[in-house]
Parts: sequence; structure tokens; C-alpha cells
Amino acid sequence: DILIRMKHVEKYYGAYHALRDVNLQVRRGEKIVLCGPSGSGKSTLIRCINHLEPIHSGRIVVDGTVLTDNPAAIDTVRREVGMVFQQFNLFPHMTVLDNCTLAPMRVRGVSRADAEATARKYLDRVRIGNQAEKYPAQLSGGQQQRVAIARALCMEPVAMLFDEPTSALDPEMVKEVLDTMVSLAQGGMTMICVTHEMGFARQVADRVIFMAEGQIIEENEPEAFFRSP
Ligand code: ADP
Ligand code: ADP
Repeated sequence: DILIRMKHVEKYYGAYHALRDVNLQVRRGEKIVLCGPSGSGKSTLIRCINHLEPIHSGRIVVDGTVLTDNPAAIDTVRREVGMVFQQFNLFPHMTVLDNCTLAPMRVRGVSRADAEATARKYLDRVRIGNQAEKYPAQLSGGQQQRVAIARALCMEPVAMLFDEPTSALDPEMVKEVLDTMVSLAQGGMTMICVTHEMGFARQVADRVIFMAEGQIIEENEPEAFFRSP
């Protein structure tokens, strides 16, 4: 059961060839850690999956939807794929709760009452339910990133993409965010994570994929990956 399929994907930024013949199949429930040097195309790869970046050629299919430039296809895929960034990207003028209910109400037409119930469920799950009425600036970085994860979960996505979610955090806050991601993984979520946290990779990854210069150059189970020279 393949949930995300990338086939012969090519991506250019101007003349710069950012993704070179990327082929990737992600099974439902699979956890993938994407690693490789800075500039190797990791962020570009996951941004292409929800069309934050258009591709030049190739094919991306998410849960049966072919990702074309068609706005309906883009909306469908963005509803199904949650994304968490290095910078938390919360709306500063909105409470934690309102950050979490906005998209479900606007994009999915969920009633306020239902959106709030869902938001409180996921805020509890990331262990931040008691901060729902606060504003992002009143929270630590680790708490803000957990809100960002809860906000993505409120759309009830079939997969979650993480782009260096702990890289902007003070060291003492990295663990609380990784713990949240581990618990999400253990709950069965399909995940693609760009991260340098190799302990996390060892713990949850079904596959570790290594990129260099826009290409997938190695992929393996974590045990084999970390054994290879
Ligand atoms: P520019 O910065 O030159 O305007 P963009 O990065 O905005 O180019 O790309 C516009 C579109 O054209 C994108 O879909 C991109 O993938 C594609 N594209 C850009 N340059 C090339 C190229 N040299 N070869 C193929 N496709 C390209
Ligand atoms: P990584 O996530 O592995 O660090 P990225 O996917 O962010 O790599 O970037 C891959 C390459 O594409 C880098 O050389 C980067 O400078 C370039 N790049 C990324 N985004 C853009 C953009 N919007 N316009 C032009 N070049 C870009």
C-alpha cells in the first residue's frame, strides 16, 4: 500500500538542477528519515510533495491523487499532508487554540465547536493542552514546535513531513519535540523527516535515505545504514 510515490522527479531553480531523477515510494505507516549534506535537496524533495515547490518533470502521487498544477489536486494533497518547518510558522497574533482551528474551519469547513474539540485533543496529545489560550510568544521554542505539530494534526493528515523540526531549538528543547515525533511514529503515522538527529533515526526510521547533489544515493534500514562505512 504505497501512500506517496515520486517517479523520475526533476526540479530546477532557474538553471540550478536541484532534484535529479528522484524515485521514492513511501508505504502507509512507513517512517523515513532523509539525511545528507546541506544543499543536497532534502528540503526541496519534501516541499515538492505538497507542491510548495512545483516540479519540472516526473510524477508525484499522494494517496491516489496525482499532483498536477491543478488547484483542486494541490488542495487535496495539502489537506492530506501535514508539514512542520524549522521555524514554527505560527500566527503570532492568534492564540494557540486559534492557530489550530483556523485551517480546519477555513479549508475543511469544520464547525468551530468541532474544530476546537479536535484542537484540544491534539494539543493534549502533544502535552500542551494547558497552554491553549496563550499566544505563541508566551511559549518556549519547544512548546511552539509542539503546537505546530498539533496544528498540522488537526487537519487529520494521512502523512506528516518534517523539515529539520529541531534545528532552530535550544538544545534542552530538542528532546521534547523528538519525544512527540516518536510518539506520533509509534501511533502509526506515515512520516518523512529531514533531520540530523540520528538517535531519532535509529529509534523510529524504517528507512534512512541519504541524498547528495539532488540525488538519492543510498537508502537502507537504519541498522545497515549506520554500519556502512
Ligand atoms: P526562474 O527563477 O528562472 O524564473 P523558477 O525557478 O521560478 O525559474 O522556475 C520556474 C519554473 O520553470 C519551475 O517550474 C522550474 O522547475 C522550471 N524551470 C526553471 N528553470 C528550468 C530549467 N533550466 N530547466 C527546466 N525547468 C526549469
Ligand atoms: P537541503 O534541504 O538538503 O539543505 P535544499 O533543498 O534546501 O537542500 O536546497 C537544495 C539546493 O537548492 C541548494 O543549493 C539551495 O541553495 C537551492 N535552493 C533551494 N531553494 C531555492 C530557491 N527558492 N531558489 C533557488 N535555489 C534554491
